[in-house]
Amino acid sequence: MVNITLPDGDIKAFELFPTGLDVAKSISEGLARECVAMEMDDKLVDLTATIDHDARIRFITSKEPEALDILRHSAAHVMAQAVLRVYKDAKLTIGPAVEDGFYYDIDMEPVSEEDFAKIEAEIKKIVKAKLPVRRKEVSKAKALEFYKGEPYKLEMISELDDATISFYEQGEFTDLCRGPHVPHTGYVKHIKLTKVSGAYWRADPSKPQLQRIYGTVFFSKKELKDHLRFLEEAKKRNHRKIGQALDLFSFHEEAPGMPFFHPKGMELWNALLDYWRAEHRADGYVETKTPIMLNRFLWERSGHWENYRENMYISAIDDIEYAIKPMNCPGGMLIYRQKPHSYRELPLRAAEVGLVHRHELSGVLSGLFRVRAFHQDDAHLYMRPDQIQDEILGILKLSERMYGTFGLGFHLELSTRPEKSIGTDEQWETATNGLESALKAYGKDYTLNEGDGAFYGPKIDLHIKDALARTWQCGTIQLDMAQPERFDLYYIDKDNEKHRPIMIHRTVFGSIERFLGILIEHFAGKFPLWMTPLQAIILPLNDDLVPYSNEVHTRLKSAGLRVEVDSRTESLNKKVREAQLNYIPLILTIGGKEKEGRTLAVRTLDGKVKYGVSHETFLDTVLAHIHQRKLSLEIFTD
Ligand SMILES: [Zn+2]
Ligand SMILES: [Zn+2]
Repeated sequence: MVNITLPDGDIKAFELFPTGLDVAKSISEGLARECVAMEMDDKLVDLTATIDHDARIRFITSKEPEALDILRHSAAHVMAQAVLRVYKDAKLTIGPAVEDGFYYDIDMEPVSEEDFAKIEAEIKKIVKAKLPVRRKEVSKAKALEFYKGEPYKLEMISELDDATISFYEQGEFTDLCRGPHVPHTGYVKHIKLTKVSGAYWRADPSKPQLQRIYGTVFFSKKELKDHLRFLEEAKKRNHRKIGQALDLFSFHEEAPGMPFFHPKGMELWNALLDYWRAEHRADGYVETKTPIMLNRFLWERSGHWENYRENMYISAIDDIEYAIKPMNCPGGMLIYRQKPHSYRELPLRAAEVGLVHRHELSGVLSGLFRVRAFHQDDAHLYMRPDQIQDEILGILKLSERMYGTFGLGFHLELSTRPEKSIGTDEQWETATNGLESALKAYGKDYTLNEGDGAFYGPKIDLHIKDALARTWQCGTIQLDMAQPERFDLYYIDKDNEKHRPIMIHRTVFGSIERFLGILIEHFAGKFPLWMTPLQAIILPLNDDLVPYSNEVHTRLKSAGLRVEVDSRTESLNKKVREAQLNYIPLILTIGGKEKEGRTLAVRTLDGKVKYGVSHETFLDTVLAHIHQRKLSLEIFTD
């Protein structure tokens, strides 16, 4: 007999060893139908597992957070089974659940999205057959025997320490797997293959290239539909596509992973940086600029030479090795060390929008999101221990203000001391308390990632949320107890003694390039007036109206607007349409009426047209909108 304890404390006794499914059924048929798996004594197992001892059971229904992962991993099995039916020689490697779906890496002939239909047709059959998913445990020797001729599975099995190996079977398909899985393949009904890309076995470019087929699956048709609509929208907003359409930036094989910004892209860049500088100046930051190449001795001192070298580009000057900086901090600390500091000068907030280079494998480069050269909106803050809380609070408020300007929400994560770390218990306590009390004073909820801090100090990460509800980690606030030591930084305190300052590394945007990519997708190219590359375009109806148009152009330009005249002999309608496609927020059409009355006709992206606007009203309204960095596309409200 076994006693089964349920989460509410109820104990159920069974004469024979039941499966989880039996227990669920004994409670209700509805529950049994809703269940995906169960947790037995804190371990996730199949619902069909036999309970052969007194145990605590928690059912995983489709509502539980773990359920989707189990469904997705099960979907990866179903997809692999379908692929093997279509491509007999395919060799399986691994197929995990990922953030919004699953993938399977398969050694097979290259496939494209056109091949999805035939794979999905097989998937449909497998789903319809509701094949039971069964776990089977075998000895390691048996497992090796079974996978003869499957090099990847053999490699994985030989790396396992376990004496018994678990397989999962459904119909003719078997996969090496720890589980758990859904009870049968019918659960994987709302599934769709989404994309395919290349991937190397073990992410190692010297190893075979595999096909990584992605898919997604949900418990309901509606969730799947919503997600596919989201993917469609994300595709439309793809920053590489918009970047090309709006002529913002490009990439060239002469410098892979290093973006080239075009004139329009630089307008956007400069608007963003002007804003960044205004906010930082207001918050008492000073700005520095340090070289992009520094010699090897500096990197040895900072520890990068030992710990980060494979990500750094190395060169030489006069027979001495130099590294192109992957981070701005060491250069900044040389400036700090340049002269003695008194406690009265602290906190010191030194910002540097520095160009850094980090080596990334060519396979992972992805538009502006993953590059080899980028500008970090870095700042290094030096302070006394009693200033930690105020400084962190200041950074949080600055970040909130800046993200808010773009209509971006955000959430916070605090990461504390990891197992491997430097510094004393007391230092960690001061540091972590400083971060925690700042977060409490700030008053916004945060997630705690215990043990996830850097080895040199705890940190707060800021994850922004864009218009498609995707999250991106952009900001970080990291306390550093290592570098002040390595660079022997100090300040003279009230007691006339030398003390180590607390050092904080922080970013708001993170990488400017990546942040621009995020903004392009967030706004879908329709930037707010203050940052958009071209703010206004003047469209004369005919050649006679060009002189008045040029006069308006001069006036607006000298008021600081980014404005152009389009005097091509195209039809006005065509020019208006083109300007709208380029998301130009102010389209000024000039006809005889406008010239006569010395007024403007203004089209805005909210679809409104306003006639008879005087130059003064136009400039007052537009400049106020820009000055306040308003988000709204509605510029003329009345
Ligand atoms: Zn599996
Ligand atoms: Zn730094």
